[in-house]
Amino acid sequence: MTWSWQKNVNLARNARRGKLNEFPKQLLKTSEFELSTFPVGYHGWQELDLANQVKVPIALACGRNPGPLLFVSASVHGDEFEGIVAIQEFFRELDTDSLKGTFIGLPIANPYAFEGQTRESSLPVDGLNLARQFPGNVNGSPTQCLAASLYGLVTRLLGSDDLFVDFHSGGTRYEYLTMVGYHPTGDVVEEKSRNLARAFGVTTLWEIPPSPNSTATFNGAVARAGIPTIGTEVRGRGGLLACDVAPLTRGLKRLLVASGMMEGKIDDVYYGAPTVTEPINCSESGILKSNAEIGERVKEGSELAQIVNTKGELLERITTSSAGIVWAMRRFGSIRSGEMAYLIGVAAR
Ligand SMILES: [Zn+2]
Repeated sequence: MTWSWQKNVNLARNARRGKLNEFPKQLLKTSEFELSTFPVGYHGWQELDLANQVKVPIALACGRNPGPLLFVSASVHGDEFEGIVAIQEFFRELDTDSLKGTFIGLPIANPYAFEGQTRESSLPVDGLNLARQFPGNVNGSPTQCLAASLYGLVTRLLGSDDLFVDFHSGGTRYEYLTMVGYHPTGDVVEEKSRNLARAFGVTTLWEIPPSPNSTATFNGAVARAGIPTIGTEVRGRGGLLACDVAPLTRGLKRLLVASGMMEGKIDDVYYGAPTVTEPINCSESGILKSNAEIGERVKEGSELAQIVNTKGELLERITTSSAGIVWAMRRFGSIRSGEMAYLIGVAAR
């Protein structure tokens, strides 16, 4: 693909940007955050007061020409770092002179988890998984308030012509294939979301099945609010590898072109069929002895792992209920009852 990405920074543009960057950095409550208060051509970081005096950085680029709003969120889970760096790198290069519309990057969506170096909000806060709390509760616990604040901000700023992206990864305990997903919302927004997912540049295309869990994620709730939405997963495995950041920054550049926010052409849109997934959750807690590998093709009824106790006695066999491909697997050798051991990509529509 090609796009008008200005690698050689124009001196005149820099001078203009320097002037615009004198625009004061403020601490804004989500309810006070208004795009109209920022000048055309603005490119800089602001600070957002999400809820309960929790401050997070927010990157804002206001294009020279009107167009959609692209809002990108990362680290809903505090042990997933690839999306944070992708937002930073994409934003640093983003040229407001050729941008049509607005970019907002929220690299730290869950500061409770990021600060605690944990997937969920840290235990002293409330220990909750932010990705199970949407659309949130303003009268609830800190993580539930945070969800309400994030959901309120995104649904107030974005509409059906805009785009929301939620970056995830396998974090410290899982490994995922690199994939891009959308929600089957059964409305006109579903088609927009699917087309944007196809343009993202990742060929593992995931139709995220509706479930109590998936509808309570940030991306699941926003998609159901009538906003075109995609979510991504990359490898994880406790690291932050440049090769896992690259598909995300590249994907954002492709989304700019696909949504008309940047001149260019994408000549390799993925038109393959989407796949749905089945999670395999364990019943027992214990030591997880895995026999499967990421990306492996498995048959119905295959044994993927055994859970044993501290004496090595068998507690549970983890088997597949459908044939498919291992799209995600737990990489941590201990598991608790109810946690996901595998995610199997099972069927194309
Ligand atoms: Zn995640």
